[in-house]
Amino acid sequence: MFHLTSFRSLAAPLAAGLLMLQLPGTSEAAAPKSPTIFYANRPDAPGFRADCDGELKQAEAALGRLLAVKGKRTVENTLKPYNEVVLHADNAAYEASLMESVHPDSAFRATAEEVTQAAQKFASDLSLNRGVYEAIQAVDVSKETPDTKYLVERTLRDFRRAGVDKDDATRAKITALREELVKIGQEFDKNIRNDSRSIELSSVDELKGLPDDFIKSHQPGPDGKIKISIEYPDRFPIMSYAENGEVRKRLYMERMNRAYPQNMAVLDQLIAKRYELAQLLGYKTWADYVTEDKMIKSAANVSQFIDRISALTVAASKDEYQIFLKAKRADDPTATTIENWEYAYYSNKVKKRDYDFDSREARPYFAFADVKKGVMEVTSKIFGVSFKKIDNPTVWDPTVDAYEVWDGGKMIGRFFFDLHPRPGKFNHAAQFQIRQGCAGYQLPEAALVCNFPGDEPNDPGLMEPADVETFFHEFGHLLHSIFAGGQRWEPLAGTSTEWDFVEAPSQLLEEWARYASSLQSFAKNYQTGEAIPVAMVEKMRRSDAFGRATDTAFQVLLTTISLRIYDRDPSQVNTDKIVEEAETSIMPFPRVPNTHFQRSYGHLDGYSAIYYTYQWSLVIAKDMFSKFDPAHMLDPAVPTMYRKTVLAAGGTKPAGELVHDFLKRDFDYKAYEAYLREGVK
Ligand SMILES: [Zn+2]
Repeated sequence: MFHLTSFRSLAAPLAAGLLMLQLPGTSEAAAPKSPTIFYANRPDAPGFRADCDGELKQAEAALGRLLAVKGKRTVENTLKPYNEVVLHADNAAYEASLMESVHPDSAFRATAEEVTQAAQKFASDLSLNRGVYEAIQAVDVSKETPDTKYLVERTLRDFRRAGVDKDDATRAKITALREELVKIGQEFDKNIRNDSRSIELSSVDELKGLPDDFIKSHQPGPDGKIKISIEYPDRFPIMSYAENGEVRKRLYMERMNRAYPQNMAVLDQLIAKRYELAQLLGYKTWADYVTEDKMIKSAANVSQFIDRISALTVAASKDEYQIFLKAKRADDPTATTIENWEYAYYSNKVKKRDYDFDSREARPYFAFADVKKGVMEVTSKIFGVSFKKIDNPTVWDPTVDAYEVWDGGKMIGRFFFDLHPRPGKFNHAAQFQIRQGCAGYQLPEAALVCNFPGDEPNDPGLMEPADVETFFHEFGHLLHSIFAGGQRWEPLAGTSTEWDFVEAPSQLLEEWARYASSLQSFAKNYQTGEAIPVAMVEKMRRSDAFGRATDTAFQVLLTTISLRIYDRDPSQVNTDKIVEEAETSIMPFPRVPNTHFQRSYGHLDGYSAIYYTYQWSLVIAKDMFSKFDPAHMLDPAVPTMYRKTVLAAGGTKPAGELVHDFLKRDFDYKAYEAYLREGVK
């Protein structure tokens, strides 16, 4: 459907503590024409604009054909051209969104932002085009296949939600508001991307506690200073291991004030304009509007869902807090509090003391190159596909590489890996769609955009266990995009299922980073080649359960902020106050004054009120995982069935039905609750 509602990049959730810191498709008919891979002509900024304009022109032409039809409306003369309209408009929007987030040249990124605006404008106009709406409404689909019926049902619903029924004056206002919202959102994201802060350390002594590989790759510069960035490859290890609390605190404060003050006013505007739009469309608040077409159905249900998880975690996290505090008292007998920047550090200490697990010992088994290879080998094995590296690919940065996905003798998609930080690049982890697959038109293409260590010479890029999970997570989104890329209708392809289901396949794939039967196949000591010991993996998983209440309470916090700033009249919204109130009532740590985390909480643009999707999807992911066998994670039998019933179906059916097809029953909370309880012993 229009990218206004479904167009998105899928970002990873935020980590606790560190922050406070065909099968494919149903149509065997036509082999995809496979236009060349994205970026193949290595465009400069004007060339890129011309390419995207070309897509929009094709969308325009298909729209003209659709509207010119005289007489009876049919699948052939109406739905087919409609599919082409959306396909080409989506291509322009997806490609521009990726380029504005990753291209190394800021002028190119600025051009991409303009293209995004044009593509969003096209989509917005389309969504309010009554001629198109009436044409689709007039098609008799009673004898068509279920996917076609579902396409029409969903499309008409989305047209109504977009405001197609409103009078001309209201529709004009909606259009103007949407254009503004695109620009405000871009500003918000850009301020986060461009504010990559760092601190300077005056001696290597301040790195005490850090692993040797980290110290080796962080030697003083010519001025004698050591630069430590707030981006993940530096921040995760510092927050977990630095014995010097002052260093952790300084880095924490920089991170918490990223995009402050720039995004103060920008966020307030985003909230106000979304509210205005929701009201115009006949909804009480933006949260009511944005939840209506999700599995959860309403903002009130999100509130209830939050209460349900809070009950399972908030009190338990206060118990965990006492354990952290006790650990701190071993260092400082007078300690009375654990601060935000001490959470990851003491969590690590407790894991070592009580669970005999020190993630520094696991790091040598997770060299970047091995993990990357492992993610591909594991998924290749369980899903029966192969990945072929493209030689000398044309890419936007020399560190990016590209692959083809083959299923037997058939190429079913392509993807890019853009996996290391660089200035001006999106600084979280996400899967970006580039093209949705559509049988007979184009192969699916996607990009993984992450910020892992490992592109410095002489640095093996040792990853944290959490990084390895993130890699599997994002690759889970990517495979969903590819496996559901053979649909007849582009708006139903890839990850175009309900948004609150979309995280389930990625969260499910994280499980392959947790069990020896999978990890031993690729996690080899980078110096000795020895596979990660089974005992270490067991300890890693057991220790991972400790702190789960606090980690989940942090997710409750993010979910609460995301809902609360969008579920009321903006005249009652003071984001600092909402954050403060939520933090004080949910988290066990004392709130740190002068922090403005919401200004760099990027999901508040992309996800707006629906950060809850992560926990909602996790309920489903945990339930689905109960069908897999942790002792035989590389056995392809269940994954093959899962690929066929859940992934390949994309958005052709409501997600609840796909899950039912796989589980042979409705999903429930049992596995999720057991997972939470694991940590509360
Ligand atoms: Zn995700």
